[in-house]
Amino acid sequence: MPGAALYIHIPFCEKRCLYCDFYTVAGVAERIPDYVLALQREIALRAEENFWQRQQFETIFFGGGTPSLLSPAQLAEILEACFASFNFSSTPEITLETNPGTIDNTQLARYRTIGVNRLSIGVQSFDENELQLLDRIHSPEQARAAVVGARYAGFKNVSIDLIFALPNQTQKRWRENLQQAVELSPNHISAYNLTIETGTPLDFAIRKGKISPLTEEEEREMYEFTMNFLAQHGYCQYEISNFAQPGYEARHNIKYWDGSAYLGLGASAHSFDGRRRFWNVANLRKYLELTSGGALAEESGEDLTAQQKRFEFAFLGLRQTRGLDLQEFQRRFRMPFERAFNGIVQELEHDGLLERENDFLRLSKEGIFLCDEICARLEG
Ligand code: SF4
Repeated sequence: MPGAALYIHIPFCEKRCLYCDFYTVAGVAERIPDYVLALQREIALRAEENFWQRQQFETIFFGGGTPSLLSPAQLAEILEACFASFNFSSTPEITLETNPGTIDNTQLARYRTIGVNRLSIGVQSFDENELQLLDRIHSPEQARAAVVGARYAGFKNVSIDLIFALPNQTQKRWRENLQQAVELSPNHISAYNLTIETGTPLDFAIRKGKISPLTEEEEREMYEFTMNFLAQHGYCQYEISNFAQPGYEARHNIKYWDGSAYLGLGASAHSFDGRRRFWNVANLRKYLELTSGGALAEESGEDLTAQQKRFEFAFLGLRQTRGLDLQEFQRRFRMPFERAFNGIVQELEHDGLLERENDFLRLSKEGIFLCDEICARLEG
């Protein structure tokens, strides 16, 4: 079985961004020390479980929220607890998500010394007006300084996140964003099409007519430009929203997509043991209460049905540009892919949305734009 992944959710943020629907809490930084202790308790409890004891972890990802609100000393405590409790491969990828508004060069250098070897910087945009619209706490200068500072601190693996199709964003402005990104030469770029999540302030603003989203055609033009532009600048697209210089694909994300087990720690974190998916309470107070009483903060879980497992494998495989491994599908599920999704695969191929090469099935050039629709058709 391939190695496992460890995800650690840090829910604290200075301020909520307009579009965000992650589980985060703003303005309660005084709870961070309790949270660090709670994570250590949760690590100890999970390490007693046979399944997680048997795993070899290959990645650790501090996500959020804003993990860079934790001091290097606090992150070091969590890392030490992980290394003392679980088995790791010899060179695990250790990623820290950072907000450019919360870091300086000294802090970056200390993150490097405690063992973080990959920085994921939440730039989102290099445009002042766009950052203000999104309610981000940082400026374009801080975003650029974070990438430069990461290199200065010795990080050899730096990723940035960008969002396109922002309200009022012109094609020209998005292209300028991409141009600035490649000039900084990060090793990895995640470029996400803005999603309007229900219940977010962005969703309310759109419903009230205060903000207008872009049209599908405008989004598509931006996405198409992104794929071509990043390819020309040496970034290989390996997933719908992810582009990397050769050898810098995110090992942690690939674990999610190839069906590996992952353990999620912290409030709202999700886990998967190959059979069952389960998740922690998305409530800081409850999480702290439960863990301080010596209990796990698991809220609920579900055993995946055989059809759910087949669909997940298909959906996650198709999101990757190398495609879905048909032989691996047959090996895992003891049936050909075509039989599992009776008739639909042929239809999608006939419509020119899926294409085959050797033993891989992948989205065609047209299919990439319709990934969600294709997955909905497969799900039935
Ligand atoms: S900093 Fe990130 S996690 Fe926090 S509110 Fe903004 S988008 Fe959400």
